[in-house]
Amino acid sequence: MTSSSVVRELVRPNVLTLKPYDAKGAACPVKLDANESPYTERLSPGLLRSVKTNRYPDPLAEELRRAFARRMLPARLRAIDHILHGNGSDEIIYNLICAFGGPVVFPSPTFSMYGKIAQALGEKTVEVPLGPGFDLDEGQMIKAFRREKAKIAFISRPNNPTGNSFQWEKIIKIIESVKGIVVVDEAYQAFSGKKSFLPLLKRYQNLAVLMTLSKVGLAALRIGFLVSNPELIGEVNKTRLPFNVNAFSQAIAVRALEGASLGEGVKKIVSERGRVFRELGKIKGVTAYPSDANFILFHSERAQRIFRVAMREGVLLRNFGGPLEGYLRVTIGSRKENDAFLKAIRNKDIWAGNGLG
Ligand code: PMP
Repeated sequence: MTSSSVVRELVRPNVLTLKPYDAKGAACPVKLDANESPYTERLSPGLLRSVKTNRYPDPLAEELRRAFARRMLPARLRAIDHILHGNGSDEIIYNLICAFGGPVVFPSPTFSMYGKIAQALGEKTVEVPLGPGFDLDEGQMIKAFRREKAKIAFISRPNNPTGNSFQWEKIIKIIESVKGIVVVDEAYQAFSGKKSFLPLLKRYQNLAVLMTLSKVGLAALRIGFLVSNPELIGEVNKTRLPFNVNAFSQAIAVRALEGASLGEGVKKIVSERGRVFRELGKIKGVTAYPSDANFILFHSERAQRIFRVAMREGVLLRNFGGPLEGYLRVTIGSRKENDAFLKAIRNKDIWAGNGLG
């Protein structure tokens, strides 16, 4: 038996058919593919020196959770037994599915990791297509949840990659109608200007809100949080590996959460998002979708050409296949980066020959 067939025979079938997360990170100077912030924190040497490399990090990340609570949570939720810390919110999705099991329900298209993690853990996934205008079909979500006797649903609000915020009332209806956990993923909430679901945690015991520091300038640190009632947090916490957030990340994030820069970056991105959207609206052959997040989804018959030419010009976009064939997603960067994107998408090599542009 060759070594590769040994592996194929032994690996669990759900893993064998799993596709790895597609994060190529091609070497492009203008990286607008991963919904990161263009603004990095400045690290002081003193801060780095304060970390003792011979010791494990605080397993409970208490200072980090306190700093997060003070900065990001309403007063009533600031006790840290409402908060679970993760190595990115990705890890918390893993913890949640590990704790509650499946089937796992989510709309489609949405953030791919809900499905990938469920599959990695051997749980059934149930995808409920979004309706026209990428709108949440709450009736179908509830039906699917009940039919499959599902345990947990993930709803990204604003939704990645479509950028819209599903209606508040629709999500409430789902929370009230299902006997299971509903996770509202607020990774992009800061850019939306819409109400957070956090205040509803006291009303609904089956609600949990997922948050991340990745979109506001701290993606390198890998820090996410789950906020919910202490009982739910306690159960999910049992599935967390010890020391999951490293000491450098904890120290840097605490400092950043105490400073002003995170919020300033968000304001600039929201303003640039308006400008990029308006500019995309002027390009014939491109349909851009309004966004509440730090990215814009757009459609074009020439999506593949746009992607290739932009890459050639040093601008990396996110290219989707499958049901999102013909769509591209651009992350809002700095003004200069956005200008590079807008220049690339107007390049005549994309539009020559069809009377567009
Ligand atoms: N949720 C959504 C909706 C996302 O788009 C992302 C990142 N792309 C995440 C969660 C994961 O973020 P992180 O693991 O960096 O916290």
